[in-house]
Amino acid sequence: MNFNHIRPFLRHSRLLKNALPSLLATRVRVPRRQFFSSNTNFAAEDFYQILGVNRNATEQELKAAYKKLAMQYHPDRNPTGAEKFKTINNAYQVLSDPEKRRLYDLHGEEGLNAQGMHYRTPEDIFAEFFGGRNPFGFYQQYKGPIRGEDVVRQIEVPLEFLYLGKKKKFEITKNIICTTCSGNGTKDGKKPPKCRVCHGRGMTTRTVNLAPGMFQQVNSTCNTCRGTGEVVTHDNKCTECNGNRVVRSKQVVTLQVKKGMPNGYRFVLQGEADQAPNVIPGDIVFVLKEKPHDVFRRVGDNLFITHKLSLKEALCGYSFNIEHLDGRILHVQSKPGEIVKPKQVKCIRGEGMPRFGSETQKGNLYIEFLVEFPDQMKLTEEETSLLSKILPSAQLDNKHNVADKEEKIDASLQEVSERELEYIYRQQQQQQQHWEEDEQAGSRHFQTNCSTQ
Ligand SMILES: [Zn+2]
Ligand SMILES: [Zn+2]
Repeated sequence: MNFNHIRPFLRHSRLLKNALPSLLATRVRVPRRQFFSSNTNFAAEDFYQILGVNRNATEQELKAAYKKLAMQYHPDRNPTGAEKFKTINNAYQVLSDPEKRRLYDLHGEEGLNAQGMHYRTPEDIFAEFFGGRNPFGFYQQYKGPIRGEDVVRQIEVPLEFLYLGKKKKFEITKNIICTTCSGNGTKDGKKPPKCRVCHGRGMTTRTVNLAPGMFQQVNSTCNTCRGTGEVVTHDNKCTECNGNRVVRSKQVVTLQVKKGMPNGYRFVLQGEADQAPNVIPGDIVFVLKEKPHDVFRRVGDNLFITHKLSLKEALCGYSFNIEHLDGRILHVQSKPGEIVKPKQVKCIRGEGMPRFGSETQKGNLYIEFLVEFPDQMKLTEEETSLLSKILPSAQLDNKHNVADKEEKIDASLQEVSERELEYIYRQQQQQQQHWEEDEQAGSRHFQTNCSTQ
């Protein structure tokens, strides 16, 4: 039986070391169960009863029940709870796994054992349930593996990749456990001696006198060993990692960008972040970020483009091409007699982005038309009158436009620049602000007067 994988977890745990014989017992007991399960008290307790849930319990109910009991019977909290803690963990291990649960429901523990059920250690299950984090917070003594930080990286991809789908390679650099010294940091690769200052705890404890007769114990990370509980002397440092226990390593990661993936999609590479002794590595998360495109704007599964038309085209007809994201050319043409208005939007159905997950379906391609009017037209009187005849007249609702009166003033229209308009609006805004501030100050003043009277 191989215990190598739990060795790092045990390094700082006095309690776990004490529990090691019973852990061994758990593992060895598995085959024994096959012989005694039906007539000894090993199998007497039902897993559902152990967790205090009914047989239809949902995953959430199981989790809640496990959490409550595991916290209650954890040996750190409850010195006599070790056996019960183990039973709770075994029950949870089986019932939280749909496949094992089904087998257990059908054939009980015998069914599981016949399939070679292998119970993991209670501390493993417990640590995993709490994501490697310490559920007892400050007061907890069990120092199991902690979970490392997640690394979040943004990856920018062009819209073409999201339209067509593409594999993308990335180089990542991360800390990995030094293989030369197996993460011990020593020349001979053996475990370094315990830190003499903290006796291998990684923590130092001092007693603070809060008040006469009142003391509090304060734990802090040991400075000598920087919390590792071990000290690698200078001449015993591993030459590969220089005693750091980890080395930098480059790795190439390939991500499959799929057709229609949404902006912000997260690729999670579980446990691929920095490795360190006694740490469960965090995840590397790649967050997909869509690069803005020169032509197409993406709105969900739809694409938008803007197309400029001259007034002539808007009135007399247009014909143009759109080069799509995959290089296909879409030809668009107006119908006879069709007139396009400024900001009018038309649509080519089914030429948008592929729908993520059902790539054969696509959104739409929307075309927003801008109509560019000419600044001036040099027309003869004849041409003007002809044009006027051709263009349809319309009844326009202008409230200011009243019928002629005898007295009227001839006014001349002049050009206005954008700057002039901006200036007017800005000035108005500033005045508004001043006025509001004055009003607030005034009302404050007024209230103070009131309250003092
Ligand atoms: Zn120390
Ligand atoms: Zn090393």
